[in-house]
Amino acid sequence: MSELLTLGGLAPFSTVDYPGALAAVVFCQGCPWRCPYCHNAHLQTGRGEGPAWSSVLAWLKTRQGLLNAVVFSGGEPTIQSGLPIAMTQVRAMGYQVGLHTAGCAPKALKELLPLIDWVGLDIKAPRALYDQITGQPGSAALAWESLEAVHTSGGPYQVRTTVHPEWLPPQAIQQLQLELLLIGVASPTLQAFRSLGVGLGSGPFRGGPNLDGPPKN
Ligand code: SF4
Repeated sequence: MSELLTLGGLAPFSTVDYPGALAAVVFCQGCPWRCPYCHNAHLQTGRGEGPAWSSVLAWLKTRQGLLNAVVFSGGEPTIQSGLPIAMTQVRAMGYQVGLHTAGCAPKALKELLPLIDWVGLDIKAPRALYDQITGQPGSAALAWESLEAVHTSGGPYQVRTTVHPEWLPPQAIQQLQLELLLIGVASPTLQAFRSLGVGLGSGPFRGGPNLDGPPKN
């Protein structure tokens, strides 16, 4: 039987992935971006190495009344075409729906927003530095379009930014805060980069920050 979602894993209990809720976290497989500090790089490919979505749904039925929310994380959940139905399924079971996204797919995100109770949106850098972090030309425009959609939707959300000294030095964080302020978005929640399990290449700011412009290689 083909499954609605291609999954890389399931965290059955989390207190930190959805504000104020006990949540299960479903890790979706696949991401079009290649951030060098990606903590879930094993989820970047589309290979499904996690549980079947149907088995997760059956398990969620046994957790009704014990958990409050289901968070779709990744990888990048919004690139999976089955996500709207999967979210509808968990909402019908009484769960709040959370989404962790990098905003890679703003069109899909806009269609999903009515099904989502809370969004954790990764904004990675000021616009000028975006593509060198994601490895994808045009990624800043996608992320900012997603941010605008989430911001104007009126629903609760949190902008999160991973701080890695070689990829996002202090001056870049200040620039990002300014760019967010200009569109009426509060400063991001800064998340410290965690090195466990991450294979980094040479960061553009290795050897010291340089915010005069994109690094020259
Ligand atoms: S957008 Fe997220 S999941 Fe995708 S490569 Fe970057 S950090 Fe990893």
